[in-house]
Amino acid sequence: MRLDTIQCDVCGIERKEANHWFVAIVPRGEDSGVPGIAFGPLGVDVSDNPNLGIEHICSQACAHKRLSQWFTALTPTTKGTAA
Ligand SMILES: [Zn+2]
Repeated sequence: MRLDTIQCDVCGIERKEANHWFVAIVPRGEDSGVPGIAFGPLGVDVSDNPNLGIEHICSQACAHKRLSQWFTALTPTTKGTAA
């Protein structure tokens, strides 16, 4: 029996059977009504909620990176700032 290939949505590495992965539970689209993202164990099923999507996360480091990306997306970049 072969597992479907799962890749980390942050760094792109492929899942090996022994790896302990997570999922990020993310809003689908701007008007999903979902206020933020959450993390859970691999296997969380959100298919009954059309406003939620799943991203695969290979490690705590990638979970932190994904959370950081989400914060960055929340914060509009300041234009014309000369450090
Ligand atoms: Zn990763």
